[in-house]
Amino acid sequence: MDDLALLVDLHADGARQGPGGAEETRLSVALSGLAGRAGLRIADVGCGTGAATLVLADALDARITAVDLHPVFLETLAAAARAAGLSDRITTRAASMEALPFAPGELDAIWSEGAIYNMGFEAGAAAWRGFLKPGGILAVSELTWLTDRRPSELEAHWHAQYPEVDTASAKMAVLERLGFSPVGYFSLPERCWLENYYEPLRRRFPGFLARHGGAPAARAIVAAEEDEIALYERYRGYFGYGYYIARKVGD
Ligand code: SAH
Repeated sequence: MDDLALLVDLHADGARQGPGGAEETRLSVALSGLAGRAGLRIADVGCGTGAATLVLADALDARITAVDLHPVFLETLAAAARAAGLSDRITTRAASMEALPFAPGELDAIWSEGAIYNMGFEAGAAAWRGFLKPGGILAVSELTWLTDRRPSELEAHWHAQYPEVDTASAKMAVLERLGFSPVGYFSLPERCWLENYYEPLRRRFPGFLARHGGAPAARAIVAAEEDEIALYERYRGYFGYGYYIARKVGD
């Protein structure tokens, strides 16, 4: 197995593949103003195994297309949708977020939790805007500085890993420049990182290493995840995920 296949294997049996929470997805729905509307068309981009997709399908009267690059995540999502009686609302689609399978102006909303960084916040928001109806909603969670200043070690780390890391006000300015009007913002509480994501991930390390016979590549992936967790534990006051809800303005 190559590194990407190993990473997918580590994350495939998780309930989520990044920080987040059902309550926080519901909060984003409340801020979107879409509740109570009928027959919505929504995409969940970089859906993983669908933690957010299932909440959206439950909270909104919508047909949701859940898009991810990795079919193994989508299989888990489809099974969970069947088990929850939500299959008629959720369609899975293996596709890249850089070439989404939608027509211009087709969607009422695009949700994407912890995934837009794969193409970059600005490139993603710019490209996805075209798939939204006028007044359509973009709701994304994204790595964000929680304070104006931060330790230089942390700043150097994230600038190298993800140069678009920035404060919420700067991210909102990007959205405004691209033709969105911000309608809501909050940052994910620590529980979304620790209890919902990192702790379950950590509990899967032994099984993952056993499945791969302790192969060096598998051990390296676990070590990298441990480093990421340690970074969060040390510096969690300074960075997190911001949840941005914005409305498309103009055509
Ligand atoms: N939204 C989910 C998953 C977040 S992890 C959750 O919050 O749990 C990021 C997801 O983006 C992964 O499922 C990964 O497979 C997917 N992804 C990465 N690059 C992608 C791309 N180019 N196109 C579509 N999905 C991609």
